[in-house]
Amino acid sequence: MWTLREGAYAAVVDPGEAAPVRKYLAAEGLKLCAILATHHHPDHVGGIAELVQAAAVPVYGPRGEPIPALTHPVSEGDAVKLPELGLNFSVFDIPGHTRAHVAYYGAGSLFSGDTLFACGCGRVFEGTPAQMLASLGKMAALPDDTKVYCGHEYTLANIQFARKVDPDNAALAAREERVRRLRDAGRPSLPSTLGEERATNPFLRCGERAVVESANKYLGARIADPVSVFAAIREWKNKS
Ligand SMILES: [Zn+2]
Repeated sequence: MWTLREGAYAAVVDPGEAAPVRKYLAAEGLKLCAILATHHHPDHVGGIAELVQAAAVPVYGPRGEPIPALTHPVSEGDAVKLPELGLNFSVFDIPGHTRAHVAYYGAGSLFSGDTLFACGCGRVFEGTPAQMLASLGKMAALPDDTKVYCGHEYTLANIQFARKVDPDNAALAAREERVRRLRDAGRPSLPSTLGEERATNPFLRCGERAVVESANKYLGARIADPVSVFAAIREWKNKS
């Protein structure tokens, strides 16, 4: 989960639990002003009911998913205004991991939930590979310096899989070293940037020759269309 703060106020994104949020707000002397949810999985919304009992704040989340205490259902093109923080976000529909998953984009930052991870992507539970690839493509079109705040710290494991798919990618090898140093020092690898993701995340590189060739080797077939390549490497990752 992520906290956004300014002055005396804070908003929280994907509070899977209430206790750490309440502890952080109390320790920092912050007042909760909003909750944003990207999708309905319990590890992203499990803390909402308890948090709104203590403070009846607006809860933003995808229209069409069961989000606890949802007050502001949102979908593609909607705006989320957080005046206490001086921040505005636009909402993208990014179905695939779940059927109505949303991302929040604003202030040069993208909250991508369990759809785009650092050097990886979420599993396709409720949508199709074509939907998931289109959702990833929508986010990949944002500027290079966009900070990517994803839902989980899976970066190192994702990089290890990515190196099997894209073994000669020098930027990926450099990223592995950088992330390993951070994790060894007990620090997060997040946020990443979209430029970094486009250069190293195999799920954003389904048209690159090296990734296509690896997908073919995995399948023992000749395919080239990006949706089939995406589906192949997503299945490979699930099994690895
Ligand atoms: Zn999820």
